[in-house]
Amino acid sequence: MSETNPYMMVGERLCMDFINTVSWRESTEKRRDWFTDYAKLVDWSIHAEVLTAKQAQNLLVEAGENPSKAEEVLKQAIELREVMYRVFKSISKKTSPYEEDLARFNDYLSQFYQSLQIIQDEDQFTLKFNQPENNLDAMLPPILQSAVELLLSKNELDRVKQCEGDPCGWLFFDTSRNRSRRWCSMADCGNRAKVRRFYQKEK
Ligand SMILES: [Zn+2]
Repeated sequence: MSETNPYMMVGERLCMDFINTVSWRESTEKRRDWFTDYAKLVDWSIHAEVLTAKQAQNLLVEAGENPSKAEEVLKQAIELREVMYRVFKSISKKTSPYEEDLARFNDYLSQFYQSLQIIQDEDQFTLKFNQPENNLDAMLPPILQSAVELLLSKNELDRVKQCEGDPCGWLFFDTSRNRSRRWCSMADCGNRAKVRRFYQKEK
């Protein structure tokens, strides 16, 4: 949950990195949302490789012409993110997500999956979101898809964990072979825990 690098991506899955766009998630005083405006959402999306720089540029022009729509998309992105956070946090705690969160997630699913189409690409078929290039919410379907894939991954789902740093709150997909990862980042929360242990021993 580093303050210095606003684009720290340690979630190992697109949906996890999207959830982690709030620093110090579980602190009331220090909590900081990275998506302070629509341009920030677009900028993060380039970094996450959800949008190309060219797409992003078009979206920003579109947003300039349609600021109220851009504002609405920003609100939606934040709502979707918070719903995903609560769902995956429950999963990390081995509890069932709240029904209303799943219901809200499903609302987004039916909204965005409307544009899913089978497209023939030479000799194979792929599933793609087929929507106008200048859709201001173009970054949201792939993020949602990443969450859907993770939810459907069955025996991989117990790799979803929450950083043990308090009050970090970040989520990640543990790719370590023995599933032993505990921190969002060793340099960040991992190090703080090490320092704390050291001082406790000294006392
Ligand atoms: Zn952490």
